[in-house]
Amino acid sequence: MKSVLIVGAGRSGLASALLAKRQGIPRIFLTEILPEASFTEAKKILEENSIEFEFGKHSIHLLDEFDIIVASPGVPPDSEIIVQAEKKKKYLISEVEFAYMFSRNPIIGVTGTNGKTTTTALINYILQTSGLKSVQAGNIGIPLSDFVDKVDEETILVVELSSYQLERIVNFRPDVAIILNITPDHIKYHKTFSNYREAKFKIFVNQRENDLLILNFDDKETYLAKSQARGRVALFGMRQVEFGAYLRGDEICLRFSNENNEEVLMKSGEIKIPGVHNIYNSLASIIAAKYFLVSNEKIRNALMNFKGVEHRLEFVRSLDGVDYINDSKATNVDSAYYALSSYNRPIVWIAGGRGEGNYYEFLDDVVEKNVKVIVAIGESKGEIFSHFCTMKRCYLEDTLEDAVLRAKSIAEPGDVVLFSPACKSFDMFKNFEHRGQVFKEIVNSF
Ligand code: ADP
Repeated sequence: MKSVLIVGAGRSGLASALLAKRQGIPRIFLTEILPEASFTEAKKILEENSIEFEFGKHSIHLLDEFDIIVASPGVPPDSEIIVQAEKKKKYLISEVEFAYMFSRNPIIGVTGTNGKTTTTALINYILQTSGLKSVQAGNIGIPLSDFVDKVDEETILVVELSSYQLERIVNFRPDVAIILNITPDHIKYHKTFSNYREAKFKIFVNQRENDLLILNFDDKETYLAKSQARGRVALFGMRQVEFGAYLRGDEICLRFSNENNEEVLMKSGEIKIPGVHNIYNSLASIIAAKYFLVSNEKIRNALMNFKGVEHRLEFVRSLDGVDYINDSKATNVDSAYYALSSYNRPIVWIAGGRGEGNYYEFLDDVVEKNVKVIVAIGESKGEIFSHFCTMKRCYLEDTLEDAVLRAKSIAEPGDVVLFSPACKSFDMFKNFEHRGQVFKEIVNSF
């Protein structure tokens, strides 16, 4: 490989450029359409490493000068440079595919609409606490390019894969691939639901006979992948499966041996992270850990101790008998559904943000059953109000602080104040992390 053009100077773009440098690729160029002012740190690093770059534009002529084009996940597919690269039939790949070119390690890939980060972190935790070497890469953690060539060969790479990353893979092959669920999200990017599903299905296209594909038995869109699998398939869900892990009553059961013997691993109530969705995440993680021969006892211990990830049903504090929960990462209706299903106490629900065609009907039953009062903020607050106001008392507030104060004034001992927006954060905050941080600061200031 003689030359690589990297599109996008975010974390993964920069990581790809530095990986290319470490690998001695003779010509590396990074192009970023946003102005230099937003990238002072990145610019400094590029200069220090003698990597060529441009800010404020994507020069299309560059496409003719480079062998490989690496597109960062944030670059829209309809941006001119991507459209032209496709037209010119350039070798256009994602950061993960680029990193994979230099990898020799076992890989567990995790995708799905919701639960990727939690599951990736949980698998990493199980592997590490059982004495295996592993690292977590992906959206939350470090880009794979940052360390793929630095870790020793037996380290297991647990990689979170968005549909953006998967869309542009070519040879990427995880030994274990997990699809947690597929529900409508990011349709604006992928244009149609079936494109979005096909992008997720790319996680297993390069798998071989002895690789494992782990699928959600209860999610029909995910289960469709079974007939297309290249290797073995293990299932997880709320019904018995022949090969995999499932919940029966309140017990987590496993079936892995050829004789189809069932083993009971633990009670579902012993899993520390709350909610049905986290039972799904745990079941998928258990199967991945079993693939790497982790003992039942070690898996059980890890599940009893894993605290979860920041901004995902994160317990903030208990005040006057009311629990405050930060679920800022619930950026779509589906994840809010699971959050609203996770507590058997009345919920004062703070919701809203950028709604982007949210299908609120999906939440009707769970809101009817579990929510006491709704406090709505952000661009979508009017829509939330008009959808739910006949069902529940609904307040509209201008700021998150006003919303939390309102929730505090309403909540009674035994209630939960749940901040699970069901919307993206960009109308009022930099990102969901910023939004969750602000929520926690407000709650902790009481
Ligand atoms: P992702 O990385 O896919 O965005 P996260 O683990 O960060 O997923 O969780 C995002 C949100 O989705 C959480 O706030 C939680 O409410 C919800 N969630 C987590 N796991 C699942 C799941 N398996 N199914 C549906 N919703 C989930």
